[in-house]
Amino acid sequence: MFNVAIDGNVGSGKSTLAKELSERLNFKVLDTGAIYRGIACYYKSLYKTEPNEKIIEDFVKNIKIEIKFIDDKQHVIVNDIDYTPYLRLEETSMMASTISQFKLIRESVLSLQRQFAEENNCIIEGRDIGTVVLPNAQIKLFVTASEQVRAMRRYEQMKDKPNSPSYNEVLEDLRLRDYKDMHREIAPLKPAKDSIIIDSSNQTLEETVECCIKIIKKKYVENSN
Ligand code: C5P
Repeated sequence: MFNVAIDGNVGSGKSTLAKELSERLNFKVLDTGAIYRGIACYYKSLYKTEPNEKIIEDFVKNIKIEIKFIDDKQHVIVNDIDYTPYLRLEETSMMASTISQFKLIRESVLSLQRQFAEENNCIIEGRDIGTVVLPNAQIKLFVTASEQVRAMRRYEQMKDKPNSPSYNEVLEDLRLRDYKDMHREIAPLKPAKDSIIIDSSNQTLEETVECCIKIIKKKYVENSN
């Protein structure tokens, strides 16, 4: 199977990019952040305290994580509860970033991600796909943009929703989550040595998509020869 790994920091546009690429290449997409978000929702339904090693040890013992595609939309189901409507809440984002620092949590989703890659020509997006999950992916992209550009994109996406945060709140949240993701001990966010850096600060989405399509198609042709 042909696998494209896309990693990048908060608001880098990796989900939008992955979706556009998947439509044009007819590849499946797996959003791995959504999996950590689903686990975070489940955690919040069980515990009122912040996680620690002991709690996580108990927590993962009986966890069942499933991914289903319904009308082409990825659903995350944890212990038979579909958390998809709650994945994008701000409180979920922060808990996903906290909970994803634990080794046992990361191990519990590793085989699910790898199995998806084995079964599909696909794009898998997250934080550690090129470095840990799919070290042999045929293409590894690391997507980024300046902090201000990323915060503004997030702000624009959320500003018309009820109780939406201010630009400064979005920027602060983004900095905090980036810091946690990049400085954690296990599977920190960083570009894989063989990844291609895509900086979209000064590019439109269409320009970024075009640039990535060229890279992927070239490799795809090389691989099939
Ligand atoms: O990409 P998204 O913002 O939905 O990810 C939510 C959180 O899940 C991230 O802040 C990160 O802490 C965690 N994550 C991760 N590894 C991945 C994908 C997401 O640690 N492969």
